[in-house]
Amino acid sequence: MSEKFDAIIVGAGVAGLSAAYIMSKAGLKVIVIEKGQHPGSKNVMGGVLYRHMMEQIIPEFWKDAPIERPIVEQNLWIMGKESVTKTGYKGMEWSKAPYNNFTVFRGKFDQWFAKKCVEVGTLIINETVVKECILENNKVVGVRTDRPDGDIFADVVVLADGVNSLLGKSLGFHKEWRKDEVALCVMEELKLPSERIEERFNLEKGMGATIEIFGDGTLGMVGTAFIYTNKDHLSIGCGALLSQMYEKHIKPYELLEYIKNHPIIKPIIKGSQPCEYYAHLIPEGGYKSIPKLVDNGVIVIGDAAQFVNGIHREGSNMGMTSGRFAAETIIRAKGIGEFTERTLSHYCDLINNSYITKDLKKYKNASSTLENNGAYFNHYMPAVNKSVSEMLTVDGVSKSEKQKLITKHMTKGRTKLTAALDIFKMLKEVK
Ligand code: FAD
Repeated sequence: MSEKFDAIIVGAGVAGLSAAYIMSKAGLKVIVIEKGQHPGSKNVMGGVLYRHMMEQIIPEFWKDAPIERPIVEQNLWIMGKESVTKTGYKGMEWSKAPYNNFTVFRGKFDQWFAKKCVEVGTLIINETVVKECILENNKVVGVRTDRPDGDIFADVVVLADGVNSLLGKSLGFHKEWRKDEVALCVMEELKLPSERIEERFNLEKGMGATIEIFGDGTLGMVGTAFIYTNKDHLSIGCGALLSQMYEKHIKPYELLEYIKNHPIIKPIIKGSQPCEYYAHLIPEGGYKSIPKLVDNGVIVIGDAAQFVNGIHREGSNMGMTSGRFAAETIIRAKGIGEFTERTLSHYCDLINNSYITKDLKKYKNASSTLENNGAYFNHYMPAVNKSVSEMLTVDGVSKSEKQKLITKHMTKGRTKLTAALDIFKMLKEVK
């Protein structure tokens, strides 16, 4: 391709498409290159999409976009072998426009988003793999694709190529991710009639709920399991640090089968039909793993930049925000007429002053704290369920006796001080 673009975006996920939409709308000549058959075909997220960040790209998108259900209820479960302690929030304020968050199927949503980008002038090329960045005089000036005559040139290349970001790695922005910097997530879509979903989750017609599950949901590994309601499907899945799966020799599909057969989960999914299965990595390194973000002629966004807050299951929002910041930076750089690292580092300023850096910094030790002390998932979480069961069993034992028993469950094999310090440390890192 001989024509030159203002920007080449590698990857048509939410991050890449957000950057494309804003730049195209501002009149820049933008091309998106996607290796999948179509945008969304490689994206694994039957999950929660955050309205606020998407509306900063396309206001009131929810009136037109293929959303599944507005989320009105969010639950947190600590699951034991045959028990669960539940907490959560249901807010009917989220059942009315403009809503809060939505469940979406990324396969459908990304195709819709790509169509919107094309409407404002983006060129999208599917089934094309970017093999490498082309460098001239220490500046990225384009990309080499797997197509014949497949070199494409632009003032800036935006790497939105997802968690593995082979392109970022080949530029030396990051090394191969360590096993504790990524989580392996597996999920299934289970078909279930919408009325049945509403009955089982006690939902008003068309409304949705989420459940995040800790403890036995990941067989004691650092991670979470989840169930999200779609129109007539449930998304069920689980993910744990790759390091933990490796160490414990647990295969991802075995973990998913375990959850589906768990006595607490089984009645919720009863009678549903599995129709899709996915496995994918999620960046979980957080603040300490953020790679180099800009260089001459290049910017990294979304999962490729490790922008995921695993504690709060937020990734798509950070993808959209970082895509928007990259677009604003490139529009500004075009005004200045300079695409050096110095000019593009405006992007780093926007990221650093936003919730992205602030949140990732806040939780920077969460994953390592949980991983370095196996007691959190293997002792304290089961002890919570045992303690609640103890307190709620009416058996003639006095409540103060029961409180002593609860302290015994929580401290088993350790001093009260150790237990108090462990709990304090966890609350400090993950609250
Ligand atoms: P991606 O969506 O991964 O897109 C990258 C794109 O780049 C892909 O389409 C890929 O095909 C393409 N690509 C890669 N390399 C090349 C190449 N060399 N050439 C051309 N194209 C290339 N986040 C949430 O906010 N809420 C959730 O509920 C949630 N649930 C999740 C559940 C699962 C199972 C998983 C795996 C993730 C979940 N996430 C969730 C995280 C979220 O999916 C990501 O943070 C988000 O998709 C990041 O967007 P992205 O555009 O950076 O990357």
